[in-house]
Amino acid sequence: MIPPGKTIGILGGGQLGRMLAQAATQLGYRVHVYEPQAHSPAGAVAHREVNAAYGDLAALAAFARECDVVTYEFENVPAAPLQAIAALTRLLPDWRVLETAQNRSREKRWLRDHGLPHAQFAEVAAGGDLAAAIRQTGVPCVVKTADFGYDGKGQLKVMAAADVAAALARFHAQPAVIEQFIDFACEVSVVVARTAAGETRVFPVAENIHTNHILDFSIVPARVPAGVLAQAEALARRIAGEIGLVGVMGVEFFVTKSGGVLVNELAPRTHNSGHYTIDACMTSQFEQQVRAICGLPLGDPALLSPVVMVNVLGDAWAKGEPKWETLLADPAVRLHLYGKSEARPGRKMGHFTVRAGDVESALARARALKAQL
Ligand code: AMP
Repeated sequence: MIPPGKTIGILGGGQLGRMLAQAATQLGYRVHVYEPQAHSPAGAVAHREVNAAYGDLAALAAFARECDVVTYEFENVPAAPLQAIAALTRLLPDWRVLETAQNRSREKRWLRDHGLPHAQFAEVAAGGDLAAAIRQTGVPCVVKTADFGYDGKGQLKVMAAADVAAALARFHAQPAVIEQFIDFACEVSVVVARTAAGETRVFPVAENIHTNHILDFSIVPARVPAGVLAQAEALARRIAGEIGLVGVMGVEFFVTKSGGVLVNELAPRTHNSGHYTIDACMTSQFEQQVRAICGLPLGDPALLSPVVMVNVLGDAWAKGEPKWETLLADPAVRLHLYGKSEARPGRKMGHFTVRAGDVESALARARALKAQL
């Protein structure tokens, strides 16, 4: 066990690291953040921010020696520096978990090899025969870069034969995964936590609405049949155990029109769709991450109230500073801003949650408040 008072290191200085640092300091831990860019959202609330590149092994080693446990909030840290850290201090989740999840080919193969439901896929190497892989999968399909994809970046939908040329032009030079297009009923996600002793807790299932590939609304409880909730929870538990998770992991699913679920993506860290847990659960996903990596008992993930989370993107600044007073005047709303100085379109600047007696009222209020921002 790593008791309060010890030092938690976080690789990555974004909003996930910021909210983790806030939860960790509440429990009395010290927090060090490793982030290439100065004045990061997490660095602003940590005891120490180290600014160096992820490839700077000397800086990483010095950072690791100051920390009792290191975790990551940023998925695109290469495996080699993670191994270097793991040789010096505890790194959780294990670097192999991140190595599997950060590359779509490895992730899809892992799902297939473990008998987990997923969209059919084909793989192609850089410069390989993408046209053949698309024929193998069939149209419609989605072509995705194998590395460094998130929020729909590095992917293209091929809905008709006429779209194939654009996919070939864009993806021929890089390793790619071609997935069967799923005409899903909706998308849901689950955050699961697991300790080294194997204790596993699952947060309530969130129903996610994306706009332009970026999460817009998370609705909890998800408006899906009980059987879908049970499948998502059971799959998340199974994945956490089989991958050897120690920490938290976001698992994204497609819900098919026949009531089945397919695993879309694994993220071995807290998840944007789990931000509602700060305001609407007994324990937040961030506190749960601290508990899991420090070997403390896991907290109760129980939902206290129906809730809708809304992401606030940089687009909200198009006509000047958003009208925060509208949000703050509503007693059902809690606002979280990440302290980012530059509001670029599509950039996640903050989020707010709306609680209500039922989920439809919360969603209606959330949509109205978003429109007024
Ligand atoms: P990803 O970055 O893989 O999570 O994809 C971002 C979003 O694109 C997902 O949340 C879906 O809305 C959509 N998407 C990705 N893969 C597929 C697929 N195989 N079929 C249909 N929609 C997809």
